[in-house]
Amino acid sequence: MKPIIFCDFDGTITETDNIISLMTQFVPEESEKIAKSMMEKTITFKDGVSAMFELLSANQKDAVVQYLLDTTIIRKGFGDFVRFAQEEHIPFYIVSGGVDFFIEPLLKRYGPFSGVYCNSADFSGQQIKLVYPNSCDKECTKFKSQGCGCCKPSVIRKVAQKEHFKIVIGDSLSDFEAAKQADLVLARDHLIKRCEDLHLPYKPFETFYDCLDAIKELIK
Ligand code: MG
Ligand code: ZN
Repeated sequence: MKPIIFCDFDGTITETDNIISLMTQFVPEESEKIAKSMMEKTITFKDGVSAMFELLSANQKDAVVQYLLDTTIIRKGFGDFVRFAQEEHIPFYIVSGGVDFFIEPLLKRYGPFSGVYCNSADFSGQQIKLVYPNSCDKECTKFKSQGCGCCKPSVIRKVAQKEHFKIVIGDSLSDFEAAKQADLVLARDHLIKRCEDLHLPYKPFETFYDCLDAIKELIK
């Protein structure tokens, strides 16, 4: 048994979604319109997130990071869970539709991780411009539209090896495709229902102590 972990960030490692929380704080009305179009699927997830960040001026970067550092709650047990994986030499990847400039400061005290795959941001213009280094590979159903932004199933295909037992930890829409590739899903919120519907092997969790128990059970 060679486990490998792919863990979502927003709503999984953090208790709430950081993009929603910062948009609500800094540009509530304008971002709400975009969120609505995303929900109605008139624009892709990727284009919606890009449009939201373009509402913010590049010089708001520090204020955004500080706001998230002050308000974001890391889910209980995360530090112990990461430490366990490190001790057991279990590869631990963060795969997130969030952005490096706020993920890195929020995770700084928990690392190092085997890798962090997420979106990036360009602050050289007037507004914050998102950059997508982890786009969809040809096997992704959204390859044509490149609609995922940070494509989690593509990252898993690239990183995991045949002998790996793939554990996907997540909560929501952006984890749905990744979950299909998992040998075990640790799920909360919307992802639980999705796993039920698709009969995917999963365990629900509330804190990372639940995840820790699940992994210990696996490797014992
Ligand atoms: Mg999430
Ligand atoms: Zn994709």
